[in-house]
Amino acid sequence: ITELKNIKKSFGSTDVLKGIDLTIEDGEFVAIVGPSGCGKTTLLKILAGFERPTSGELLMDDALMNRVPPEQRNISLVFQSFALWPHMKVKEQVAFPLKHHRFVSEAFKKQPDVRVEEMLSAMSMSHLADRYPHELSGGQKQRVAIARALSPAPALILMDEPLSSLDAKLRIELRYEIQKIHRQFKKAIVYVTHDQGEALAMADKIVVMNAGKIEQIGTPQEIYYYPETPFVADFVGKAN
Ligand code: ATP
Repeated sequence: ITELKNIKKSFGSTDVLKGIDLTIEDGEFVAIVGPSGCGKTTLLKILAGFERPTSGELLMDDALMNRVPPEQRNISLVFQSFALWPHMKVKEQVAFPLKHHRFVSEAFKKQPDVRVEEMLSAMSMSHLADRYPHELSGGQKQRVAIARALSPAPALILMDEPLSSLDAKLRIELRYEIQKIHRQFKKAIVYVTHDQGEALAMADKIVVMNAGKIEQIGTPQEIYYYPETPFVADFVGKAN
């Protein structure tokens, strides 16, 4: 379980996060939505350990994480830009965290090939295991990045706009893939997106942010049918 307690972040005199309170349960799919500049990426960076909060507490399973560096956190990341290593085959990309992630189980370490195949098969990528990134389409690259993020079985997977560089048809396809692997492996996901439709379709819980604050937290149904503020109503495209 991950808890943010009154998390604030300022860059110089700019207050980017103004007191964020949020709990991410084990296995929960949490989408963070809000307009450009509202602080979504900054929040994700604090969860990842790339930024430290100015004040407040970040707890993971009751341990204070504010100053713990990224490599000592039980998390994985998926970026909009895929961030695959150009010189590695698909199967090597997915095997890499099994060697280097701190929290990998002995079972996965002993039989990395079994785990790699399980991940590739979950993402329908087994037949492309020996390809290099330049031999893959955008959608295939993102499938590999997701398989790689999942392979060490982290407690939390952070996804920053993972589908926004793909075309509309692929975005819908990958939505289902991500939901499928979420149901299959039950890891907590924090999913930052511009796309309200994506959040409504995929998440267990939606966090609507506006100017460094949380406007509302709720299920997709709550956010869509019972928006608590005009901002939320407007943002999900439905007037009160
Ligand atoms: P987008 O959807 O456009 O990616 P966002 O909601 O992810 O936006 P952030 O990237 O978190 O927003 O940025 C929030 C605000 O913080 C912006 O006004 C941005 O300019 C500012 N900001 C972010 N990082 C820094 C930094 N390192 N130094 C100064 N200001 C920053």
